[in-house]
Amino acid sequence: MPADDLAGRLFAGERAAVSDALNLVDDARPEQQTAARELLDRLEARGDTARRLGVTGAPGSGKSTLIDAVLRELRSRDQSVGIIAVDPSSRSSGGALLGDRLRMRSGAADPGVFVRSMAARDRLGGLADATRAGVQILSAVFDWVFVETVGVGQSESEVAYLVDTLCFVAQPAAGDTLQFMKAGILELPDLFVVNKADLGASALRTANELQAGLGMGTSREDDWTPPVLLTSARDGEGIRELVDQMEAHRQHLDARDSLGERRLRGRVAYVLESLQRAYGAHGIDRAGGRHALEQRISSSESATSVLLATLGQEIEAQIREPTP
Ligand code: GDP
Repeated sequence: MPADDLAGRLFAGERAAVSDALNLVDDARPEQQTAARELLDRLEARGDTARRLGVTGAPGSGKSTLIDAVLRELRSRDQSVGIIAVDPSSRSSGGALLGDRLRMRSGAADPGVFVRSMAARDRLGGLADATRAGVQILSAVFDWVFVETVGVGQSESEVAYLVDTLCFVAQPAAGDTLQFMKAGILELPDLFVVNKADLGASALRTANELQAGLGMGTSREDDWTPPVLLTSARDGEGIRELVDQMEAHRQHLDARDSLGERRLRGRVAYVLESLQRAYGAHGIDRAGGRHALEQRISSSESATSVLLATLGQEIEAQIREPTP
């Protein structure tokens, strides 16, 4: 079985198996898709201890530069890092992919670092699946898994479900905070970074605005107060503190035993979203509505792919039935 073989190689920490596994999930042929699902189910069943970090923010805020600096800090702490750089743009030209830019900076020869780019342009709707699969595969091998994505707005909520810790990167600019609040962004991130602190007063002002904006929001269920950090990725300032806070957030989740809860929420969101994409709101209604589905997904012990297939079959059967 290719899935067994690949899973074994991943569990042994074999680097080449990471690329092979990512290629397998990308392969659209039916036999390969079946093997890919089996592999992902095996990874899910085994679980992992990787720390998953989402990094999001507007283009130009310095995400790639920052990730590069964080990467060096983690390598100095003897931690390995796998990165998925998601590029949602569908431009066929205009700038290298995030991942390629990162790869150029970070030592490509370092076996403790792995970077994979994923572009939306070839995937029409499947980017969420591909990213989720990538996170699962990298989590089997690396200490840290980063998901880097562009954007202020929708992309945050998608990434938030994939990772344990979400980090939002802002850059000094007047009026940004208002935009963040309008986009509802202040609620999701666990860490806020104002990068380009070397620009001085404007960075401090943005950090203060963010802090004030956060104070106005409703208090979080999880008891975590998201810190607002100042960094200069260019000069390496504030990077150690950022990595300390990344560790602290994970420890917070572990101490409260809420990592599993967070991942379960991610699974529920993913299954619902996939069903919605495949069958539309009508399909969700025919299956008893979102709430009932949420409960079923939460309490199911099946592998995610098995659960998705079962629910899909049920919805299809319901749709075929004439409405009473
Ligand atoms: P991304 O699009 O968010 O990935 O941003 P990049 O990492 O590509 O950075 C965008 C621009 O900001 C580049 O010209 C970087 O050199 C610059 N940049 C990144 N970090 C800093 C910083 O800490 N200070 C300053 N002054 N410039 C920075």
